[in-house]
Amino acid sequence: MLNIVLFGPPGAGKGTQSQRIIDKYALIHLSTGDILRSEISRGTELGLQAKHLMDKGELVPDSVVIGMIGHKIAENREAEGFIFDGFPRTVAQAEALDNLLSEFNTEIHEMIALEVEEEELKKRLLARGKISGRVDDQNIAKIENRIHVYKSQTLPVATYYQKQEKYKGINGIGSIEEIFDRICSAIEAA
Ligand code: AMP
Repeated sequence: MLNIVLFGPPGAGKGTQSQRIIDKYALIHLSTGDILRSEISRGTELGLQAKHLMDKGELVPDSVVIGMIGHKIAENREAEGFIFDGFPRTVAQAEALDNLLSEFNTEIHEMIALEVEEEELKKRLLARGKISGRVDDQNIAKIENRIHVYKSQTLPVATYYQKQEKYKGINGIGSIEEIFDRICSAIEAA
């Protein structure tokens, strides 16, 4: 198995690049944001609970996202590997992911972190909000809150993987193709 965490602040390009990575490496894409949005659009109890937090840019409780990811891993135990996008977002989630993967005798092989400066993130998210319809992309206060949540709760996850010598920083500025080439080099060196 090849298991990769694609990491970065909101607007770094994780979703765009995940799509290319899964096409090239035949990995299963697990995006907690996408799974939660699908729960909301299906009107499930979980979706209803998550929606008000997501609309404000706050994190959904660890137990909820860990449970979701646990199910998806168990459903795809024959997969070539996984690309985790938007997960783990807290150190508790990263620890839980290590435990889940060890139950399947596997582990995270690499964290690929897309590095993009804050002003560029805000520009990209506001532009995306105009076409995506995502409530959390449409207002600068919400975007700034998501960046704040990222810095305070999610950045420690990078340190967690640095300590395991699995962190690989990638320049997230450039064309989609250029960034994808950098990611492929990092995956192939893993
Ligand atoms: P994303 O699509 O990754 O930008 O996620 C959109 C929103 O979903 C986030 O702002 C959070 O409210 C929620 N979310 C997604 N992934 C997680 C996670 N791993 N932990 C907690 N909340 C999450």
